[in-house]
Amino acid sequence: MLVELVKEVAGADTLKVLEILKNKKNVSEFKIAEKLGISVNQVRNIIYRMQEHNLVTFTRKKDSDKGWYIYYWTFDMPRAIMLIADMKNKSIGDAKENLLHVEDTRVYVCKNCRLKFPEMDALEMQFLCETCGEIMLEEDSAKRKKDLSKRLKKDEEDLKVANEILMSHREMIAKSAEKQMIKEKAEKDIKRKTARELAKKTAKTTKKVVSKPKKKIKKTVKKPPVKKKPIKTTKKTSKKSAKKTVKKRILRRVFNH
Ligand SMILES: [Zn+2]
Repeated sequence: MLVELVKEVAGADTLKVLEILKNKKNVSEFKIAEKLGISVNQVRNIIYRMQEHNLVTFTRKKDSDKGWYIYYWTFDMPRAIMLIADMKNKSIGDAKENLLHVEDTRVYVCKNCRLKFPEMDALEMQFLCETCGEIMLEEDSAKRKKDLSKRLKKDEEDLKVANEILMSHREMIAKSAEKQMIKEKAEKDIKRKTARELAKKTAKTTKKVVSKPKKKIKKTVKKPPVKKKPIKTTKKTSKKSAKKTVKKRILRRVFNH
């Protein structure tokens, strides 16, 4: 189930990395590269695809000799199981929906390629398989029902297993995902509450808003240092000019004599 998921979302070549990360924590990317006989860049390329779906977490340490970072990867099992549960839930929903409409929909199938097409698509293709050219035949609705029920049953079993694993990982999940969810929820609640309070206090706040600019005006009034500064500078400049005049006087005296 896990292999299925990782393969589906991140590609088949991620499975060899999964095999190494499974049941381990903080595996160095150099170790992974060494075990697989590939370069560290190739390892990163594969792992980034897993990271896109949050299937892995990492820590990094700076290599004091070489000055670069070394990444240590951990497969995020609870996250993966949760993804599986999501996928199974969706698949179960689809299967149930399809089961409801088995009688009023038609599906055409190519016996050679085993490709299936809904009636509208098959009609457009003039009931000829687009891959091998074989005439497609309508699939027996009883067989479709049977297949869908089979898929539904398997998905429900998988979901049950996923939920059991999730339960057993409860502590880990509580530490990561649930904690975050609770945090986010709390943050949202606070936002909602403050929004509500704000909505209630609109009448009061309008009064406050009126009083606020007054304060601001007072503050701005309290800021005449702007006026003081130019005075200081003028004093300075006057001092400077005074010095200059003194210099001029001295120079005059020097040159006059
Ligand atoms: Zn075909």
